[in-house]
Amino acid sequence: MRSDELGQELHALVERLYPLCRSITGDGVRSTLAIVDELIPLTTHEVPTGTEVLDWTVPREWNIRDAYIADARGRRVVDFQASNLHVVGYSTPVDATMSLDELRGHLHTLPGQPDLIPYRTSYYREDWGFCLTQRTLDELQEGQYRVVIDSTLADGHLTYAEHVVPGQVADEVLISCHVCHPSLANDNLAGIAVATALARRLAGTTPRYTYRFLFAPGTIGSITWLARNQERIGLLKHGLVLACVGDSGALTYKSSRRGDTRIDQAVRHVLATSGRPHRIVDFSPYGYDERQFCSPGFDLAVGSLTRSPYAGYPEYHTSGDTPDLVKPEAMLDTLDTLTDVVGVLEGDRNYVNLSPFGEPQLGKRGLYDALGGWTDTKQAQLAMLWVLNLSDGGHSLLDIAERSGLPFTAVVAASDALLGADLLKEI
Ligand code: ZN
Repeated sequence: MRSDELGQELHALVERLYPLCRSITGDGVRSTLAIVDELIPLTTHEVPTGTEVLDWTVPREWNIRDAYIADARGRRVVDFQASNLHVVGYSTPVDATMSLDELRGHLHTLPGQPDLIPYRTSYYREDWGFCLTQRTLDELQEGQYRVVIDSTLADGHLTYAEHVVPGQVADEVLISCHVCHPSLANDNLAGIAVATALARRLAGTTPRYTYRFLFAPGTIGSITWLARNQERIGLLKHGLVLACVGDSGALTYKSSRRGDTRIDQAVRHVLATSGRPHRIVDFSPYGYDERQFCSPGFDLAVGSLTRSPYAGYPEYHTSGDTPDLVKPEAMLDTLDTLTDVVGVLEGDRNYVNLSPFGEPQLGKRGLYDALGGWTDTKQAQLAMLWVLNLSDGGHSLLDIAERSGLPFTAVVAASDALLGADLLKEI
């Protein structure tokens, strides 16, 4: 597929998922996962309300059909059918008539962004509320209003899904994204679209690592996954949390808690050698589900890839985070970066130099002649010398690429040539 077509396809998925009213539980998540399942086969898990997961409990399931505030003439002045952001997520059911003053305590606006609807939730405290633009609020007249939220908060399930690409080894790479935001495109849907596209790129291949894609509601979803997969944690060698990967900002990589793991090294190297503008930021216990994967008891090698960072753009958690904010070329750029990171993880090896006393003679082994076929002869020769010098078993090819400043692909090509000349052995 041409890359501009792929970009359009990713964007079409964002647009298709956008209207669904997702939350941390409920049918919006199920419908979202059903659409992703059309593209990559998913295993969906339903975890009952009340299940103890680490220090948390799976909450009751929330579903909503309709909600509105109507004026005395019956006109809907705030309407869930126009935007699902109008209702505070997890609102309890309401059907009442009240004055504007009584209603005010349940209304949320953004006075500093008067044309945008905020995104609010109340998962763990029973409450109800509406979100609206400051302009709409300013136009409301004193008087009586009918307030209806046709929702259910009842025992049910928390839903999450996995897609696994089996590898040659059981060791795993985790790619995780959240699926719990209603109509918010960059924060939620772009991550789903890019993760799905990466899974499709891996489909039909047998990579070295096993790739596990996790589509789960934020916080409670990753906590539930961690609680139910404690025996698998040891296999999880590298991971990335994807979020906000479709806006036109530069890529941002937030390091794992440890900061010096292979995934940190791989993403840093790919970004540094790509020529892309980018930012590398240290770990902080705030943001997306890296907070859970990097909690001290697990301390996994999981970083976070975003474009604009968490809460780092004006439309964040507002009705301004529409599919228009998400750019096909930005999602493609994220996807290509991830593909390069996967390439590094897949290609990284540790070798020992079998002729470590003095430099081995490259000429008599035909390695100088082989260089003739390379586009950058000087770089190729340099790469061979670096690989020979640092292949003492303790340095991987990625270590060598980082230390030499050479692209990982050049280091791999050099190691392949040296392997062919029996100068290296994999350990
Ligand atoms: Zn968010």
